Amino acid sequence: MEKAGNEIYADIIVNIVHEALDKTFQYRVPQHLRENAAVGDYVKIPFGRGNRLIEGYIISLGNTPLIEPERIKDIDSVIKDSSLVEGKLIKLAAWMRKRYGSTMIQALKTVLPIKKETGVKEEKTVILLLSPDEAKETLAEFVRKHQTARERLLRALIENGEIDQKLITGKLNVSTATIKALCEKNIIEVRTDRLYRNVKPHQSEKKNIELNEDQKKTVSAILSDMKTGKNNSFLIHGITGSGKTEVYMEIIEKVIREDKQVIMLIPEIALTFQTLMRFYNRFGDRVSTLHSKLSKGERYDQFERAKKGEISVMIGPRSALFTPFSRLGLIVIDEEHEPSYKSDSMPKYSAREVAFELARLHGAFVVMGSATPSVDSYYLAKNNKSRLLKLNRRAVENASLAEVSVVDLREELKAGNRSVFSRELKEGIEDRLNRNEQVMLFLNRRGFAGFISCRSCGHVIKCPHCDVALTLHSDNRLTCHYCGYEQDNVKKCPECSSELIGGMKAGTERIEAMVKKAYPYATVLRMDADTTKNKDDYDRILSSFANREADILIGTQMIVKGHDFPFVTLVGVLAADMSLFANDYRASERTFDLLTQAAGRAGRADRRGKVVIQTYNPDHYSIINSAAQDYEAFYEQEIAYRGFMDYPPVKHMLAIVTESEDEKLCDSRIDDLAAHIKDAIISRGSEKNVRLIGPVDCNIKKIKDIYRKVLYLKSADENTLTELKDDAWEYMDTEHKKGIRLSFDLDPIHGY
Ligand code: ADP
Ligand code: ZN
Ligand code: ZN
Repeated sequence: MEKAGNEIYADIIVNIVHEALDKTFQYRVPQHLRENAAVGDYVKIPFGRGNRLIEGYIISLGNTPLIEPERIKDIDSVIKDSSLVEGKLIKLAAWMRKRYGSTMIQALKTVLPIKKETGVKEEKTVILLLSPDEAKETLAEFVRKHQTARERLLRALIENGEIDQKLITGKLNVSTATIKALCEKNIIEVRTDRLYRNVKPHQSEKKNIELNEDQKKTVSAILSDMKTGKNNSFLIHGITGSGKTEVYMEIIEKVIREDKQVIMLIPEIALTFQTLMRFYNRFGDRVSTLHSKLSKGERYDQFERAKKGEISVMIGPRSALFTPFSRLGLIVIDEEHEPSYKSDSMPKYSAREVAFELARLHGAFVVMGSATPSVDSYYLAKNNKSRLLKLNRRAVENASLAEVSVVDLREELKAGNRSVFSRELKEGIEDRLNRNEQVMLFLNRRGFAGFISCRSCGHVIKCPHCDVALTLHSDNRLTCHYCGYEQDNVKKCPECSSELIGGMKAGTERIEAMVKKAYPYATVLRMDADTTKNKDDYDRILSSFANREADILIGTQMIVKGHDFPFVTLVGVLAADMSLFANDYRASERTFDLLTQAAGRAGRADRRGKVVIQTYNPDHYSIINSAAQDYEAFYEQEIAYRGFMDYPPVKHMLAIVTESEDEKLCDSRIDDLAAHIKDAIISRGSEKNVRLIGPVDCNIKKIKDIYRKVLYLKSADENTLTELKDDAWEYMDTEHKKGIRLSFDLDPIHGY
């Protein structure tokens, strides 16, 4: 007879809807099915008193019975059906739970779609009623009258014929009032369909771009490797405008011709109307998107359509990975270096890594692309884990790279210039304003700037609830960007009573005021977290800048992402080094990315652009190499540093964070855990290949009155870290977790 401990029990869910995910039933895996039963498998089980056979999915396996073993029934049979996409998603969730640390329920909730009924499904499509000549005439009228929203809408319709109303009010940022006004003038018509569908393909004006030699080579390299199975992942390192998107579309077309499906990841911030339209125009209503304007119900509808096989390409940010495609053939990750590909809630997964696992489960391929690949992906490519392909030239002949100049701010000061604008930048701005071209001014870091400190004693005014400096706003109020706390500005130092207290550095708002003062005739737009509180603000500001409604756009890193502004010929980076000193091992990488992408903003089309990088550290390798647009040189220096410091991707790093309202509890729990992990390391004999660092206070010690501590484990061996994480998870049982929150972050993308 078998001992109870040798039995294998399976937790099974019978109803995959979110509310029911934590409702599982335990069954025994009988001897003859043991070889066969795995997490994610579809099984038949006897249910209820009548033992009626019903179906469900195994979500976990273990040796511990939750009730008396005699009362646990046997699984009837395992149905091996690889077309069941839920099974694959459950396997993926199990992999994520194991790798990143979370409960299985948290992982399942991340990958399985939330069921929400939308009621009647109505789709509104805006259709142009004018002939091409009439449309041209009307467009000229709108331009003349500076009716920019109308102009924007009409241009888009002339190009695309008809467009989903959601895209117009969302990505194109045209109000329903404008739509209504044009309807009344019989320029457009809104058609309502009671269906789920997207825009119709617009056959008439499909521009067929002929790929250039470099693009063709890239496409055929990828396709031939896909055919032979020589490589299953690819990294395209191609400068901005080198035609990566055309390459993706070519490969996508081949994949869907073979009746496979495609997930196309684009960070929300780069998912512009123009980009979406390129996909719609090429693939018609086989394409769907998951943009942030969709309600939960609408998202669910898109997932249902995907499941029914009504669409072939899903475009969206990281959550698009969980589209329930049963014939997934390809995952494309554009701008693969983007930090938004890492989730910030448990499980804290990397979309790139999840894409690889998902592709493995489906036998699919991964194509990544970036102008500034992440050091992680480049490292993998260099170690032959994926194939590296390069596109070194801009696709459009007359587009040239910007001229970059680095200005040493220390020299400016020596020359008596105390302004935040160097002489070279000032000259540049005046010149552009005279020529009626546009300027972007980019400030590296918001939270860093605009804080109040005492010049006598150095005291900084901080938020009473968070361990961060308060920021001064133009209404003379001090605000906390973490919790929203506000107070009046201070006149005297609360520590030493000195009156020499004030703002030290310039935030975006201060820069705006200075620009307005220096160039009163220029129109200025500002984009930062304060001016983009509503979802629409981001698109509104960018589209109005793109329409040349302003001469100068001032902003944080938000403004350097994937937008095309053909009239921008000068980009000024005000203090390039601010992000270098963030307490973060990826600070140099992020600085390099931002500067390189900022440089990519200037001078597309036929105007040569100029970039002025102002810095106190002109000799830093991330500044030198971004000015020279030399990724390779940057990478070599950066990877040497990572290796020297045992940072990812050379080593793996696991952050374990405790949070609590009670500072003492937060401390003692993590100290206790650290001691336990130390023992675990010793008892495994892993002292040589695991390093434990900390515990220490997080960079920001307190947020919203919650204290935070972190400890790091570093190792070359990922499995050791996974096992230590599981050990820590088990050790921190209900009793140990009382009053604190515990979280894990594998290979974090920022310091804690
Ligand atoms: P990336 O994704 O690398 O930034 P895109 O694919 O968006 O580059 O291409 C940049 C611009 O060049 C787009 O306007 C695109 O239509 C155009 N383009 C790309 N490839 C070609 C080509 N082979 N011939 C002509 N124009 C091209
Ligand atoms: Zn003081
Ligand atoms: Zn605060």
